[in-house]
Amino acid sequence: MLSYRHAYHAGNHADVLKHWVLQLLLEYLQRKDKGLWYIDSHSGAGRYDLHQGMAAQNAEFASGIARLWQRKDLPEALASYRDAISALNPDGTLKYYPGSPLLAANQLRPQDKAQLFELHPRDVEQLSRLLPQAKVTQQDGFAGLKSLLPPPPRRALVLIDPPYEDKRDYQHVRNALADSLRRFATGTYAVWYPLLTRREAQELPRQLQQLGASKWLDVQLQISAAPSDGFGMYGSGMFVINPPWTLKEQLESALPWLVKTLGEDTAAAYRVNAQLD
Ligand code: SAM
Repeated sequence: MLSYRHAYHAGNHADVLKHWVLQLLLEYLQRKDKGLWYIDSHSGAGRYDLHQGMAAQNAEFASGIARLWQRKDLPEALASYRDAISALNPDGTLKYYPGSPLLAANQLRPQDKAQLFELHPRDVEQLSRLLPQAKVTQQDGFAGLKSLLPPPPRRALVLIDPPYEDKRDYQHVRNALADSLRRFATGTYAVWYPLLTRREAQELPRQLQQLGASKWLDVQLQISAAPSDGFGMYGSGMFVINPPWTLKEQLESALPWLVKTLGEDTAAAYRVNAQLD
């Protein structure tokens, strides 16, 4: 089922949380010179034009990245994420927003490698054109992950970011992570998930905690009250396995500001839950 197109959501509050965390993870892992693999199981198209087509239709970026874009009081922990967006928009107008593979690939060093999976033919084509230096594979990302772990350099950052339109994605995420941890227990894994009233979404963070990883961090950014009719996303979360020891403090230093900036009502809030030893 390939009805989901990320372009409709590019730069929204969920992208801000996801890509900010991704940026912090990469920065930490690159403190060491040794090469690493960046693996993106569900890559999307890589770059989105916010002024045209799908991204412009609902303009979800207007209540996401656009609210941070020119703020003078941006917390330090968010600065390099915003710098990465600024680099794509050198004339100062917010027009392009990076997807996770572009954000990561722009920072990879010669000793690093990007392994990207995507199923939608048009996104695969765009991604391959945009990132000729990356390995782009048109394949189910959960199966692709299996084929790559453990990675030769024994260092990897894995992003798992499925659409969740098919509720089997929740099960696939759990299975993929359980299998990945058996193959490569020391990798850094980041799973994005939506805050929805549906049972599968509510249960996912607890189920991921129970996979047996000794270190994990779960961050949620809720932007509004859960909808009374039960429909619609009211925030999102990132569940990180083997997070850097610096991550919790970095997130907590900027999340109150992000809640004020992206929050839509008085239910807006953040939560950070972690097991770090
Ligand atoms: N990670 C991207 C980012 O942050 O910019 C967004 C990814 S989007 C949420 C999910 C993507 O997964 C869509 O582009 C969709 O076409 C793709 N997709 C859906 N099922 C897939 C599968 N089984 N394997 C790989 N990609 C899949």
